[in-house]
Amino acid sequence: MAACLVFRLHDRGPQVVREVLLERGWEEYDQDQREEEDWNLYWRGSAFCVSEYNNLFPWQRLNHHPKTVGITRKDCLARNLKRMRATFGSALYDFSPAAFILPNDYTRFLSQYSRRHGTRGPSVYWICKPVDLSRGRGIFILEDIKDLAYDRPVIVQRYISEPLLISGYKFDLRIYACVRSFHPLTVYIHQEGLVRFATEKYDLSSPRNLYAHLTNTSINKFGPSYGAAKERVGHGCKWTMSKFRHFLHIQDVNELLLWQRINNIVTLTLLAIAPSVPSCPNCVELFGFDILIDGTLKPWLLEVNYSPALTLDCQADVAAKRGVIGDLIDLMNYASGDGLRGKARRRPLCVRARRPWRLPKPPELSGFKGTGLRKQRSGGQSSQELPVMKAPRQPEKMNPRQSGQYVSVADYRRLLPPVESTQTHATRDGPANRTHRDTTRNLTFGPCSRTNASVGKRRPRPALAHKRGPRVSEVTNPDRTETEAATGRSGEAGASSSIRDTSHGGPGSRRSKLPDIYSGNRGPLQTARTPALKEHSPPLRVGDFIRTFPFNAATLRASQPELDVKVVLRELLKLPAQVATPGHRLRREGEDGEEVKEAGRDEDFDALLWGPKDPPLLSRCFKRL
Ligand code: ADP
Repeated sequence: MAACLVFRLHDRGPQVVREVLLERGWEEYDQDQREEEDWNLYWRGSAFCVSEYNNLFPWQRLNHHPKTVGITRKDCLARNLKRMRATFGSALYDFSPAAFILPNDYTRFLSQYSRRHGTRGPSVYWICKPVDLSRGRGIFILEDIKDLAYDRPVIVQRYISEPLLISGYKFDLRIYACVRSFHPLTVYIHQEGLVRFATEKYDLSSPRNLYAHLTNTSINKFGPSYGAAKERVGHGCKWTMSKFRHFLHIQDVNELLLWQRINNIVTLTLLAIAPSVPSCPNCVELFGFDILIDGTLKPWLLEVNYSPALTLDCQADVAAKRGVIGDLIDLMNYASGDGLRGKARRRPLCVRARRPWRLPKPPELSGFKGTGLRKQRSGGQSSQELPVMKAPRQPEKMNPRQSGQYVSVADYRRLLPPVESTQTHATRDGPANRTHRDTTRNLTFGPCSRTNASVGKRRPRPALAHKRGPRVSEVTNPDRTETEAATGRSGEAGASSSIRDTSHGGPGSRRSKLPDIYSGNRGPLQTARTPALKEHSPPLRVGDFIRTFPFNAATLRASQPELDVKVVLRELLKLPAQVATPGHRLRREGEDGEEVKEAGRDEDFDALLWGPKDPPLLSRCFKRL
């Protein structure tokens, strides 16, 4: 019997996750057939409880990090960004509209309101949103404070009343950001995303018309113009990010600055909670960042979604979401060791005691050199496929738990020997001077890590249960059910964008594939780095996920062993200013050769700029990092 990877979905969904995983040869967890711990990935829309984090086995991953509520609930986000602004200044933290949490901040809101409304000039509008609801529920826009009525905690936020419009329609961007790890902070943003339109033309004289002012699909789906062919926007209410890129291109917009600002918003928001999120190496999280662009092309953060909607309502959804999920699975870097659940569980006690359990040697890596690094998009078997592993023969009809001959899961956990891994870490203060001996697998990437579920450093688990602060609902902004409509799934596979047809598996590829992690296929590959940096460099991109943090050697060093927020902010501050320099343009390969070398001098650790169609190396976008 081949040992395959097993996924577990809470509450039967989301369907797109199930489909992508099944296409890749995974099996769905069935509690009648499998033991409780016999799975590799547990996906749920709501939060996991503390014990679920504390009782993870090395082969198990969860799709949420603990304690991210600090950015995913509207009031917590407003509070955290305010704190960051107060601590680090508004030069960087100026991307979220002023917000007041009511009823507590009522007096502050009143004084701000009076100040703004007492002056001459254009009218000022506010938007009122319940803190614990999503999908546009309970939201309204007001100009006059006498219209402010609420019966539950809300935030009142300055309304961005001059948004960028496309043919008169308001829109916002849904950006998919994956936090691969909080310790060290490792962030990827997906190249594909969604543009969500309002379905009626923007008109400030009718602020109560939600079809003109809100961009939620769950609202606009029911608008009278949803199905109509709207000028330039077309039918429905969504575009893919690729289409939006094309639109920007023909508008002659300074794209680089826009993308870099959005990159910064994602990083700066995550920095607000990163130091307080407990380390959980077996977790990964996909956040949905909602960004509104105003008439001056300044992007604003509206909110961060904890469980971004994964329903497939239209072609744009299919193209974006299937790709995101496929690449997310690759980013999780499952390797042959993960299929050994059964083996570890059933290994006889005496054998285990003598022979420490080790991760199997990763498959041959030589194929990743040179052009072989390119993603294998065509069907058929590739060198990246998971080797078929034979599970040890299971005694017929015998429950290992009842047999004295086999180790129970509890025993296994207790007996899991330290995996011999000694890693050397460079610190901010100087050369490598620390070593760690770890006892559990840390799924961090090595330089060639697409098959390498490496063993690495692991911090002691903070006692989540004890550290819990005042309890707020951790199910925050879960807009996964943004639309509940049936998802026309027939023909989905063929409907995805042509880029994805083969990379995310098709009918002929029902095999578990090793992740396709490669160093970018458009710029030169990363050259030799100093050993310390090399050891901890996460790949530049994984499928269409582009690494956005760390983005240079300084931020890589600043993220380990402890995150140094100040250093990161200093580096971030440099970036947009560089792109904004008048006359600046993207340098092409071979141009200004000397300068490129100069920019990339910093120990050869580079990053790609998320956003443009062909993401360039940052060292080509900025004169000096
Ligand atoms: P929800 O979680 O209910 O979707 P959001 O904060 O995302 O709440 O707001 C819903 C929609 O309202 C957004 O997609 C956007 O179109 C609009 N919106 C929210 N906040 C603002 C704002 N400050 N300025 C302008 N439009 C906003």
